Amino acid sequence: MALVTLSGYPSSGKTRRAIQLKEHLDRRVADPSCNCPAQKVVVLSDDTLNIDRSSYNDSRSEKPARAALFAAIQRQMGPDTILIVDALNYIKGFRYQLYCAARELKLRTCTVYVVATAELCQRWNAERTDDRGYRAETLGNLVARYEEPSSMVRWDSPLFTVPWSESDVPIELIWKTITEGNVKPPNVGTQAVP
Ligand code: ADP
Ligand code: MG
Repeated sequence: MALVTLSGYPSSGKTRRAIQLKEHLDRRVADPSCNCPAQKVVVLSDDTLNIDRSSYNDSRSEKPARAALFAAIQRQMGPDTILIVDALNYIKGFRYQLYCAARELKLRTCTVYVVATAELCQRWNAERTDDRGYRAETLGNLVARYEEPSSMVRWDSPLFTVPWSESDVPIELIWKTITEGNVKPPNVGTQAVP
């Protein structure tokens, strides 16, 4: 039914936002008065696919990781599913590929840009107590290569920008996009892009 693509720097809070989104969406899908065709909300991430963070240390191991993610996304997309892709999704061409695959199945799409400064991401990454952190050098490389989403291109649009200072995701707008189609996000969020 819909594809929600998260994008953001490493350790910027994507999984935190994915958890918030899933909770909201699960509740709405389970509501008997919800007359949307979605039956389930699925989250795909490096963690659900057992892709180690070290895959991002060099481009040779990154390619198969991305291919595995894309294959899993294609398997999960469907008319009864809201699919949340909680991954870096930092390559413009990859987001375009996701958009095309979703449109082929007539799914609605939107992008959630999880924003934190590189300094905050470095700090949060260094402070991580799970085994989901990146090597400092890898984080630096990924930040340098990050291709920022843009509301001006159709494959990133509608684009919801969520700065680290926001307590929650803009669920009303995201829900409207998923259930009614394209909505125009407010401009305010985009001012916080570092
Ligand atoms: P990602 O999925 O992008 O790698 P996570 O959601 O796993 O990032 O968050 C990485 C770390 O940063 C976690 O330890 C998390 O608690 C912390 N973190 C994320 N977002 C925030 C925030 N807005 N404020 C404070 N800490 C945060
Ligand atoms: Mg994560």
